[in-house]
Amino acid sequence: MALIVHKYGGTSMGSTERIRNVAKRVAKWARAGHQMVVVPSAMSGETNRLLGLARELAPARPGDAYGRELDMLAATGEQASSALLAIALQTEGVESVSYAGWQVPIRTDSAYTKARIESIDDTRVRADLDAGRVVIVTGFQGIDDQGHITTLGRGGSDTSAVAVAAAMKAAECLIYTDVDGVYTTDPRVVPEARRLQTVSFEEMLEMASLGSKVLQIRSVEFAGKYRVPLRVLSSFTPWDIEIHEEARSGTLITFEEDEHMEQAIVSGIAFSRDEAKISVLGVPDKPGIAYQILGAVADANIEVDVIIQNISKDGKTDFSFTVNRGDYAKTIDLLKDKVLPALGAQQVEGDSKICKVSIVGIGMRSHVGIASQMFRCLAEEGINIQMISTSEIKTSVVIDEKYMELAVRALHKTFDLDQSGNGKVAQS
Ligand code: ADP
Ligand code: ASP
Ligand code: MG
Repeated sequence: MALIVHKYGGTSMGSTERIRNVAKRVAKWARAGHQMVVVPSAMSGETNRLLGLARELAPARPGDAYGRELDMLAATGEQASSALLAIALQTEGVESVSYAGWQVPIRTDSAYTKARIESIDDTRVRADLDAGRVVIVTGFQGIDDQGHITTLGRGGSDTSAVAVAAAMKAAECLIYTDVDGVYTTDPRVVPEARRLQTVSFEEMLEMASLGSKVLQIRSVEFAGKYRVPLRVLSSFTPWDIEIHEEARSGTLITFEEDEHMEQAIVSGIAFSRDEAKISVLGVPDKPGIAYQILGAVADANIEVDVIIQNISKDGKTDFSFTVNRGDYAKTIDLLKDKVLPALGAQQVEGDSKICKVSIVGIGMRSHVGIASQMFRCLAEEGINIQMISTSEIKTSVVIDEKYMELAVRALHKTFDLDQSGNGKVAQS
């Protein structure tokens, strides 16, 4: 008997029929003798629907002006799906109880709409488990030290599940979703993408941070910090498949290098449309300039990603960086109002129609020439690279958004990710 955490995403909880299926699957695990904690997302579309209503009422105000109320609102989506799952389980003859994050409690900081989990008190959940109940804990939310409801950012139910698994020292955290694992790239964009049998924690961390939304990045961080055994798998398999077969399916996130790691140089391709590029032109080339520009941006709580400073000509240089597309207008205004006059720079210009495409692989550490293979592939497709950023296990390029899918498909082919013989790709 083990303590197991299941997480079900929005599509998996998308209708009463699907919730009934989830209940049957969970009941199967409970009847096999496992202690079960289940973390559901809101039914698909519900979070967007709720946030859309708020926007209708406050079209001109930025969301952070009423973040507390957004969290109060959005948290109801998971409260509803959790209660429905408890009812479905009880109908299956399984004793179960649902709790909202604040009832557990899952304690967070007060950063509305992007709160971080600080601690989880598992006393109540454990008492229910010991009494033989399946416990359902809402995803995506917690409570701050003033008693306000908070949410964890989009996709945050993954993080709730892994954090609960870490706090309770669960034997495994299973993330059930609408694909049957982590793929070499988003299978919705590249139909030839293949499922990875295993992916290393570091690769998963990069892929999540570079745009693969299959797992929220904070869930991967939690898994790494607390060594939570984590698997991504499908909720669309028949609910009554054998547990041991189910427990081996999908993609396992690994913390130790396995024998395949040598073979796969590039394990996956991540991409993000959620980017915008900003350039400050004609900046005097002297100490303190990067700080003056990026310090002001950081003070406004805007995250900066790729940064480039050109070689100076006649004592002047150009300074470019990328931000999240949602922060684009705010960043341009800030630079024009505050930074440009103080800098004596000539102009700010930007492009919000860019994207970032990245190749990720632990094998890149020990292989040279991978980045140039990437650049050649893009050149052959006639795609202009605007910015480049590298780390030990990834290379990212910023390109025009209109070439994103072409770039991802071409790179997928160039690095043989559609071939079953490649590294960790599952054999089918
Ligand atoms: P859930 O609602 O279950 O949390 P999400 O929509 O958040 O599901 O995440 C699953 C989706 O992630 C898939 O449907 C897929 O389109 C997308 N995705 C992006 N990159 C990948 C990848 N490398 N492997 C698998 N899925 C990916
Ligand atoms: N319901 C939330 C969202 O749509 C959290 C989640 O699904 O993980 O972002
Ligand atoms: Mg998700």
